[in-house]
Amino acid sequence: MLNLYRRGVLGVAALEPVSRLARRHGWRLGARRFVAGQDPDEALPALREIVASGRQVIVDVLGEYVADAAAAQAMAAEVAFTITTLAQAGLAPVVSVKPTQVGLALDADLAAEQVRALASQAEAAGGKLTLDMEDVRYVDATLALLERTWQAGAGRTSGVLQAYLLRTPTDLETMLAAAPDPVALEVRIVKGAYAEEPSLTLSDMAAIRRAFMDLAERAWRAGAQVNVATHDERLILEAAAFARGAGLAPGKLEFQLLYGVRPKRQRALVEEGHRVRIYVPVGRDWYGYFSRRLAERPANLAFVLRGLVG
Ligand SMILES: Cc1cc2nc3c(=O)[nH]c(=O)nc-3n(C[C@H](O)[C@H](O)[C@H](O)COP(=O)(O)OP(=O)(O)OC[C@H]3O[C@@H](n4cnc5c(N)ncnc54)[C@H](O)[C@@H]3O)c2cc1C
Repeated sequence: MLNLYRRGVLGVAALEPVSRLARRHGWRLGARRFVAGQDPDEALPALREIVASGRQVIVDVLGEYVADAAAAQAMAAEVAFTITTLAQAGLAPVVSVKPTQVGLALDADLAAEQVRALASQAEAAGGKLTLDMEDVRYVDATLALLERTWQAGAGRTSGVLQAYLLRTPTDLETMLAAAPDPVALEVRIVKGAYAEEPSLTLSDMAAIRRAFMDLAERAWRAGAQVNVATHDERLILEAAAFARGAGLAPGKLEFQLLYGVRPKRQRALVEEGHRVRIYVPVGRDWYGYFSRRLAERPANLAFVLRGLVG
């Protein structure tokens, strides 16, 4: 049912007239709830407020599926500028990049060179880079990109695995085998946010939750740091219970939540003694990201529709 809702919302969001209208009015109608600013300077007050409350940040410079090499280079320059802005503001430049944003769909070598340069810049300034996982067409190329980045010396770069894909347990094994040191590996586990062919995904939420925890437990057993990226209370409680029961070192579990989603729970997790990092989107290219948040939850769409009439 939720899958149908998601496919419906993402299908409508992709229609040209809807996209044009939403890009014109969406910022005012609600995108601002999920995006901290249209450039890094505008986002700084929100980032500082998060850090002051004991949460950490990972900044996502919005952008994806760029059309040509020049656009990929312009996006990489925007990410580089964001890393510099964060470092100058005294914030560790921990950033998330979408591989198609830096050209993965166009030229794997171009994407690899840009990711290597950004990861090295972030690490030199005391931060690190994560490669987000996009739709299933790019999973193989993203795993290969991650491995190339490690081989190029940016060992703190991390990846993401999507629990809803049937293929993901094998991808975790590939990632563990390729990691320079599984004990230094960091991996974010998510449910998955794209409208995929039903034959490629698990169909019900109970199965996705089970797959999520199986992946997390396998990565923990291999010694990795697992970033449990979810707002799902059941998964949050299960992950915390597993970490307690297994006596995991505190650094091996980090909860990651999205900016603007369950802010009270974000703070409560800090009070409970957990490491918490908030994924904070910044930039002008917010439409795809915003559509996926609406597709996740009917209440988010209702929030925007209320803005239209009120
Ligand atoms: C830090 C982070 C990074 C991510 N990176 C990726 C990635 O690289 N690739 C990818 O495919 N996906 C990514 N995602 C998205 C993820 O795949 C899910 O689509 C998303 O997290 C929703 O699933 P959920 O596990 O939070 O649980 P859900 O089952 O969607 O939600 C559980 C409960 O959380 C609350 N909630 C959930 N979503 C919202 C919302 N949008 N607004 C308000 N309340 C909400 C509601 O109370 C809901 O009942 C990321 C998510 C996070 C948190």
